[in-house]
Amino acid sequence: MKKLVAILLLLAVLCGCQGRVPQTKETVFAMDTVMTLQIWGADGETAAGEIKKMLSDLESTWSAHDENSFLARFNRAEATPNARQQAVLDLALQYSEETGGDFNPCLYSLMKLWGFPDKNYRVPTDEEIAAAKKEQQWDLGGILKGYAGDRAVEILADMQIDRAILNLGGNVQTYGQKEDGSPWKIAIENPKGGSPIGYLAVEGTMAVVTSGDYQRYFEVDGKRYHHILAPKTGHPAQSGLASVTVICKDGARADALSTAMFVMGLEQGSAYWRAHGDFEAVFVTKDGSIYATRGANFFGAEYEVIQ
Ligand code: AMP
Ligand code: MG
Repeated sequence: MKKLVAILLLLAVLCGCQGRVPQTKETVFAMDTVMTLQIWGADGETAAGEIKKMLSDLESTWSAHDENSFLARFNRAEATPNARQQAVLDLALQYSEETGGDFNPCLYSLMKLWGFPDKNYRVPTDEEIAAAKKEQQWDLGGILKGYAGDRAVEILADMQIDRAILNLGGNVQTYGQKEDGSPWKIAIENPKGGSPIGYLAVEGTMAVVTSGDYQRYFEVDGKRYHHILAPKTGHPAQSGLASVTVICKDGARADALSTAMFVMGLEQGSAYWRAHGDFEAVFVTKDGSIYATRGANFFGAEYEVIQ
């Protein structure tokens, strides 16, 4: 009996030691935004270093704004994509097709016209918008952070990291299970500011991506002009939404769909979810009403369930 107690005690001590996994926490500035990496695992520091390198590689390849990037040179017809780059362009085109063009990765001329890339904001004329709509200049701003989350998950898995939570400028990527087995609790920002509008309970490895009219905008004469454009009009999308959050295993998909569903609005976005169903979503309307799809695991505020 004494022997059994001793073994049990030893096991408890060993389990306790295993539970104290080293934690790495880092803040980085990449893709024009602040990112935080929180990683649990023996190789956490190395993994954080690899993720930072991956983020900086993605940025120097895909920034439409940096004139030396691959994408800027591709936009000037001075470069051809390699196989891996072509796969990223194809992925973006696939989402464009799937969303009937509401996600459009070729709006850079319009973004420039509104002054978003260099923060030189202004309201363009109808003629200018019509001309810029005809130009096809790539801009992967609507999918890149989600794609980066997917690449980060690959790195974490390769390095056998225990668990991680990455905040890539509002795009949250979870990895693995929390130590106590409870779900990750992810706050959804209130588009009007202040404390979160609610929370999501998220299991395992998942991307939680929000597109919102409060993330990047300027105001003229009291009117807000935000950074998510309706490709059909060339103007900031006026769909009645203030934000859309998408929860999906695939980060690039979550990112592309959050942008597309912001353009679609609540009705069309809900129909899109019903038709596809491999993701969940939370919609916040301009008047502050919240709608969440059946499986979203949203809590902390009153909301209507989308069936
Ligand atoms: P997100 O914050 O992911 O919704 O993406 C917004 C960013 O994607 C903008 O800053 C632009 O770079 C780009 N963008 C704007 N409108 C669209 C659109 N309709 N489809 C795809 N990308 C867009
Ligand atoms: Mg997006």
